[in-house]
Amino acid sequence: MAAGIYLHIPFCKSRCSYCDFATDVYRDSGAVERYVDALCKEITEFSPQMSADDADRVIHSDPHHLRSSAALSSFSPDTVYFGGGTPSLLSPGQIERILKVVHDKFVVIADVEITMEMNPATVTPETLQSYRLLGVNRASFGVQTFDDRALKLLARGHDANDARTTFALLRAAGFDNVSFDLIAGLPGQTLSDWEKNLDEAVALSPEHLSLYLLEIHSGTPLAEQLRSKRQPTPDPELAAEMYEMMLDRLAAAGYDQYEISNFSRRGFESRHNSKYWKLDPVFAFGVSAHSFDGRQRYANERDTAKYVDLIESADSAEVMREDIDIASEFVFLGLRLEKGVDLGEYARRFGIDLMKKYEAELSEMRNGGLVETVCGHLRLTRKGKLFSNEVFAIFV
Ligand code: SF4
Repeated sequence: MAAGIYLHIPFCKSRCSYCDFATDVYRDSGAVERYVDALCKEITEFSPQMSADDADRVIHSDPHHLRSSAALSSFSPDTVYFGGGTPSLLSPGQIERILKVVHDKFVVIADVEITMEMNPATVTPETLQSYRLLGVNRASFGVQTFDDRALKLLARGHDANDARTTFALLRAAGFDNVSFDLIAGLPGQTLSDWEKNLDEAVALSPEHLSLYLLEIHSGTPLAEQLRSKRQPTPDPELAAEMYEMMLDRLAAAGYDQYEISNFSRRGFESRHNSKYWKLDPVFAFGVSAHSFDGRQRYANERDTAKYVDLIESADSAEVMREDIDIASEFVFLGLRLEKGVDLGEYARRFGIDLMKKYEAELSEMRNGGLVETVCGHLRLTRKGKLFSNEVFAIFV
């Protein structure tokens, strides 16, 4: 069964004002090397608690049947994803070392998708060339906005020209599967500012775009700036207009929306991220990494120094493990996808008619124009995408 491998690299050049990820500022190359050692050790000593056959059975047919055997070799990863943080701060030698351990441990399929998240102004023609030679065949980099004023506000540590240069360097190095992220709903951002961002994104013509609305996380510098009124609080109605503009603009430019926040040219959907929405197993390594083995979700320690200590002394940094309600997750993750939830498959897997089970709630949502049934799939309408959290809440 195809699984995904996620590798968390927590280091960044500086910390962005809105960030609440598990990241550390890259200060000491010795500490980074020690982290890479710990990550390699965690991968080497990993063994799943159930076999690929069991995972397949749990996910795709009988959620009540489990065997206790573990058969690592039967999981054949078809995606490897370096996420962060800023994985492009690692040297090609460090990336090579990690990939070698992954290949030694797993039977990785030949046409594996290997993605690396990058940030502008952290790569050179030489490092990009090296990553390509190591098999990295997809780049995902954080542009966030092409507006230098907003980049300063977000403390991104790069300007818009750095993003344009990074895109050109990726193309020159032969990357033909490039994605970048943009954020809408920034403080002070107007509809016309957002339109300029969309225009520039479309003009660059990446294969894939991830477009998010700004989320404010308490405890971040940006949250404090908004609380103290040093920055204007973003208007949710304006953010909704931005979302609708994005749907129209990207559809006109030939991008398919395949998930609430993700758009691609045909055939360039993120194979790795699709695993999360389709409930396929993803084995995640590194600080704060979250895994799903087909039955349980589990997570590692969130503090980098503690993670390294735990791996060095105890071989495991796991701090959370829980069974998940697969039937619920199948629905609310499936609703994130443009196609929606396959009602026939839901009935086959879980022995329940979804439309009957949630008859009253779904009827209300349908009358409110939030969901619709098309070709045997329950899916969000355009309006439903704007109020998706309210729809998801039914199934949690
Ligand atoms: S680059 Fe990403 S992970 Fe790093 S500090 Fe900024 S938002 Fe956080």
